[in-house]
Amino acid sequence: MTISAPRGTKDITPSDSYKWNYLEKKFRNLCDLYGYKEIRTPIFEYTELFKRGVGDTTDIVQKEMYTFFDKGKRELTLKPEGTAGVMRSFIENKMYADAQPTKLFYITPCFRYERPQSGRQRQFNQFGVEAVGGDSPSLDAEIISLAVQYLEEIGLKDLVIAINSVGCPVCRAEYNKKLREFLKQKEDVLCDLCNERREKNPMRVIDCKNEECQKNLQDIPLMADNLCQECSDHFETLKVYLNEMDINYKVDKRIVRGLDYYKRTAFEIISNNLGAQSTVCGGGRYDGLVEQLGGPEGNAGIGFAMGVERLLLTMEAESIEIEDPHKTDIFIVTIGDKAKVKSFSILKELRKNHISADKDHIDRSVKAQFKYSNKINAKFTIVIGDEELEKDIAILKNMDTGEQIEVRISNLVDEFKKSL
Ligand code: ATP
Ligand code: MG
Repeated sequence: MTISAPRGTKDITPSDSYKWNYLEKKFRNLCDLYGYKEIRTPIFEYTELFKRGVGDTTDIVQKEMYTFFDKGKRELTLKPEGTAGVMRSFIENKMYADAQPTKLFYITPCFRYERPQSGRQRQFNQFGVEAVGGDSPSLDAEIISLAVQYLEEIGLKDLVIAINSVGCPVCRAEYNKKLREFLKQKEDVLCDLCNERREKNPMRVIDCKNEECQKNLQDIPLMADNLCQECSDHFETLKVYLNEMDINYKVDKRIVRGLDYYKRTAFEIISNNLGAQSTVCGGGRYDGLVEQLGGPEGNAGIGFAMGVERLLLTMEAESIEIEDPHKTDIFIVTIGDKAKVKSFSILKELRKNHISADKDHIDRSVKAQFKYSNKINAKFTIVIGDEELEKDIAILKNMDTGEQIEVRISNLVDEFKKSL
């Protein structure tokens, strides 16, 4: 019996891996332009980190973590998201002692035990950025513009940039009181999960996917209508900065985001061309997180994460093609044993000079070698047999134009370069 990949995981095979390389390279380049440096943290962390750093009342911690004990009986979890690990590292490596802000980006697989469907896997990949060490809306505007520029550069068109403010501990405490009163009256019509969250983290009720609950929550009080002066100023200033950059956002007061630590700015970028899983990017401000993880006070931060699988699905839905950049420059067709041996030194020389070259490796007939050269779309084919070796002359054929030129085998690199 054959063994398949675990449920909720996918191979990235050569027919797709060049697309991943394209997206990753573009993301790295853009982060570099904005002054964000790469950070790589472990795939697994102590479970406690995510309980504290993502939050006990979140779907992630309550239902979705891949948690296990290692042979030393340590409780570990495969990272379900990127921020907690990055913040742990920020504290552990005392990055707060450097000139602030600390601007970081990451590319990482994440693991969540969820029901697999289109755009939802158990192992998936995120691109993310974190900007720590500044609490003004300046960094909020910067990372939103980074996300938007990235999505535009990969060609996505039909995007909605939705922003909201989820307040701060001060105004949220007031708001939660109001919310609990409202939700108490709805006790009988809400689902069990909502009723559980009503006390612990009532704002999360807004995020409930249950249609019946949504129907009953239409006139629920919203945080953005209950902000304190400081939070309101922060939100208004962010809008000014976004307007200055001509970023076309809309305010969506129902965005609460899944993570417990969000404060003030929360945002999502949604594609109109994806099905149910339409959020390609989610982010927000997490001013208390560093402290909550035992780090020093005053290290406010903001970040986002985008789902790479969803980026690719959206590109597909918008018919955006990514070209496979690999092309074999020269395919060597050999006739006879001498040529077969000689082809190794020719290949070595070509490759040493960064000319992409290949030869037959499975004893094909001459005719089949030509066919294979066509199949892999080689730009040029060169035929080498006894006579060619003796005279040190061979024919280099341009497979697109059919043009043929004579080259000296011993000077193939230079003559090939000249022929381009
Ligand atoms: P969703 O609403 O889809 O559950 P989320 O709020 O759980 O998303 P975040 O924790 O904000 O997602 O993660 C950031 C991004 O990572 C999402 O916007 C999405 O693009 C992607 N993502 C999250 N979970 C998955 C998953 N199981 N499979 C694929 N991509 C995912
Ligand atoms: Mg989720």
